[in-house]
Amino acid sequence: ASGYSLLRDPQYNKGLAFTEKERDAHYLRGLLPPTVSSQQLQEKKLMHNIRQYEVPLQKYVAMMDLQERNERLFYKLLIDNVEELLPIVYTPVVGEACQKYGSIYKRPQGLYISLKEKGKILEVLKNWPERSIQVIVVTDGERILGLGDLGCQGMGIPVGKLALYSALGGVRPSACLPVTIDVGTNNEKLLNDEFYIGLRQKRATGKEYYDLLHEFMTAVKQNYGEKVLVQFEDFANHNAFELLAKYGTTHLVFNDDIQGTAAVVLAGVVASLKLIGGTLPEHTFLFLGAGEAGTGIAELIALEMSKQTKAPIEESRKKIWLVDSKGLIVSSRANSLQHFKKPWAHEHEPVSTLLDAVKIIKPTVLIGSSGVGKTFTKEVVEAMTEINKIPLILALSNPTSQSECTAEEAYTWSEGRAIFASGSPFDPVEYKGKTYYSGQSNNAYIFPGFGLGIVMSGAIRVHDDMLLAASEALAKQVTEENYKKGLTYPPFSDIRKISANIAANVAAKAYELGLATHLPRPENLVKYAESCMYSPLYRNYR
Ligand code: NAP
Ligand code: MN
Repeated sequence: ASGYSLLRDPQYNKGLAFTEKERDAHYLRGLLPPTVSSQQLQEKKLMHNIRQYEVPLQKYVAMMDLQERNERLFYKLLIDNVEELLPIVYTPVVGEACQKYGSIYKRPQGLYISLKEKGKILEVLKNWPERSIQVIVVTDGERILGLGDLGCQGMGIPVGKLALYSALGGVRPSACLPVTIDVGTNNEKLLNDEFYIGLRQKRATGKEYYDLLHEFMTAVKQNYGEKVLVQFEDFANHNAFELLAKYGTTHLVFNDDIQGTAAVVLAGVVASLKLIGGTLPEHTFLFLGAGEAGTGIAELIALEMSKQTKAPIEESRKKIWLVDSKGLIVSSRANSLQHFKKPWAHEHEPVSTLLDAVKIIKPTVLIGSSGVGKTFTKEVVEAMTEINKIPLILALSNPTSQSECTAEEAYTWSEGRAIFASGSPFDPVEYKGKTYYSGQSNNAYIFPGFGLGIVMSGAIRVHDDMLLAASEALAKQVTEENYKKGLTYPPFSDIRKISANIAANVAAKAYELGLATHLPRPENLVKYAESCMYSPLYRNYR
């Protein structure tokens, strides 16, 4: 290859870090200024530049430009500065990026499969330059974070999620494929936006929708084989549950919003028990929001309760209550409920507001998963504080604008008694002279390590017990030092170690269940996971 094309290829480009020898050997003389830089110095310079930007979206664009220019440096930055850069390439800033994706769009970053590609999806997959793909994250853009239908502009989400697969979980970047399925959008604002990048039509539904998805799923298996992990991301719940059930028996599929979120929240709750006391089955849960996240979490908690009590899952479910847009889910509503809500329709009088539900159900744990911000009001938090010595409050909705309450509100309204975690990060809060730290209850803790565990064991199916294994491994990573600060999640700065442990526990479960195909099973799975992880350090080209 010519030196010039080497500089233009983000997988190989090292910029000023090309050595004298490499410059001679690869026709780079004169294409670069004389200085030879180290990767550390490049990193220092870029972090300095990124910190200069005051507008978060500018930081996002700078990071995406770097990813397109010098992939290893992008991952080096992300890994070394994860707590600072995660909010940029992921929630909350990625939400704004998706909303403005048409205006900031420069390069494709992933595959766009629209209704125009119907009948040709296999060919489309072959247009992607990489042949061996291990993880696909696919969205249809209908429920992007808590921001609703962003159509084709949802692409920011698969791109961001896969960046984390590599940075946090160590899956090779070249083995990751972001996909956006475009069947139209019902977002009028986007349909009328001159910079919108997607199909200008209302969403296709029914057979037309399912046929396109089926063609995609079939083509994926045909092109990449059985062991490619397909992660469904940010689909609306009227499709998400169905797609997961439909492809769960034929493909290696995982729904992050339902399953990843469930594992991360269970881990946070289990870890919190050290601070709030009691066993998991002794607690009472109330959710605001009974969609993918809410019912997914509820079901995994019930499953874990049943493993502990040996009682049927129907019994465990009785400790868990959910509120949706029509109030508490109760048996008298059973006939009109979507199927994923039916298991939660317990015998009870109708209750219409969250505040009343808190007062009547008396939950020990309150979980927000509705996508609607500011719904944990002062009254709600005060009611939780009245009922519980240490109320556990999780505000999962993303991005920050949709958070059920802020960290400051949780601590102030509970007079410093709440244990709080949120989907998007909050800075530490000062309250009456004490500093309160809140954890980030986000599936970003789970899916990278979970995916690595699947890839490294060659698992061919996802099993609920693998989710429990991921969750258990995460909860174990919370240290005494973290607990002292009131944290029930370990810091993201340790995420690679955390991911290796999650991967190992997931892989162990896959082997135990006979779902792993990479044989023989490595003896030390944590070590093996670490050895599989992508390193962003530059290689020498000879
Ligand atoms: P979803 O499937 O659309 O579910 C939303 C649920 O909230 C539905 O049950 C809906 O009620 C209910 N709801 C909406 N408005 C409400 C209101 N004003 N009062 C009470 N309930 C209301 O969405 P999802 O996939 O579960 O995601 C929900 C939120 O969780 C999003 O903001 C997303 O970003 C966040 N999330 C966070 C994580 C994380 O890792 N932290 C992971 C996944 C999702 P109806 O059913 O009656 O319409
Ligand atoms: Mn999601």
